[in-house]
Amino acid sequence: MSNVLILVDHVGGIVPRAVGELATFGKRVGSVTAVICSSKSADLISQLSTFAIDKVIVCEGVEFEKYSVSATAQALQTVIAKESPIAVLITSSARGKEIAGRLAVRCESGLITDAIDLDSSLVATQSVFGGSTTVHSSVSHGVPIITLRSNAVDVVQDSNTPVVENLAVTFDGVDKAVVTSVEPAVKGGRPELTEASIVVSGGRGTDGNFAPVEEFADLLGAAVGASRAATDAGWYPHANQVGQTGKTVSPQLYVACGISGAIQHRAGMQTSKTIVAINKDPDAPIFDVADFGVVGDLFAVLPQAIGALQA
Ligand SMILES: Cc1cc2nc3c(=O)[nH]c(=O)nc-3n(C[C@H](O)[C@H](O)[C@H](O)COP(=O)(O)OP(=O)(O)OC[C@H]3O[C@@H](n4cnc5c(N)ncnc54)[C@H](O)[C@@H]3O)c2cc1C
Repeated sequence: MSNVLILVDHVGGIVPRAVGELATFGKRVGSVTAVICSSKSADLISQLSTFAIDKVIVCEGVEFEKYSVSATAQALQTVIAKESPIAVLITSSARGKEIAGRLAVRCESGLITDAIDLDSSLVATQSVFGGSTTVHSSVSHGVPIITLRSNAVDVVQDSNTPVVENLAVTFDGVDKAVVTSVEPAVKGGRPELTEASIVVSGGRGTDGNFAPVEEFADLLGAAVGASRAATDAGWYPHANQVGQTGKTVSPQLYVACGISGAIQHRAGMQTSKTIVAINKDPDAPIFDVADFGVVGDLFAVLPQAIGALQA
């Protein structure tokens, strides 16, 4: 049976839901082998128990902390040589894409990034040019390396206990650039923007008051996004900007509050499964991509939605 490798990339020892999505895509193609590259693997293995994973390969070493992406790419190359997988799937985060690019160069393989779907023949779907064009492509050279956007598929749960193997990796070809210290950004209790299944965003229509946007987001367990008008005005951090020059999100639910829907904003959220727009202008372009729209003042609409959720 064809074997698909998935990378268990983790942030601060937490395995994100996106790894379950990679396993779900992998199962469409064959059996799934998860690769853990870490200095502390035990906690990570237990977090994979509900995902559709047949085997776990653990590459352990302090090098993963020191050399980070280049060490991970080298470890994956070693696993590919041992397992001869039919494909390698990696999450489409900035880090995931860097690992994928380095791995593709090492293995002289074709690379597809930012896929939103993958079929059983390893044909990937990408949404490009601000969501106006859908591309289907496949890799014709080497082991296909494909990065998949978070929230692209519902995670299939599986209670199988995977076989766990350890694999020694020799790190003699890693880059000379080393990570000297890692300081995780101070986070609130909200989920990571690119991984959240619900995103509530505010734009110029908030007039700088994000309080109702944040309160609504917190009730839904959502991440908070912002348009560039809002981030350029200093109302919200640039790290939360959604769009062409910000982050690309593809959540199950995207709620745009006081955002006009400029093409550059839509480029970052158009593949969301369900889009809800709250805007007082009935002709705002955001309504062209919205599944549900509320024409009204967000300062009147959001408190009612908050009240309904609290009730
Ligand atoms: C090269 C380039 C890159 C860019 N990259 C990005 C990007 O990454 N992300 C991004 O977002 N933009 C980006 N932009 C900017 C983009 O073109 C728009 O200017 C920006 O998205 C507008 O933000 P906005 O919708 O919040 O503001 P506006 O376009 O001013 O819209 C505000 C909306 O709020 C509504 N409104 C006002 N008050 C209320 C209220 N009380 N209740 C409800 N609705 C209200 C208005 O009807 C209006 O539709 C980029 C532009 C360029 C040129």
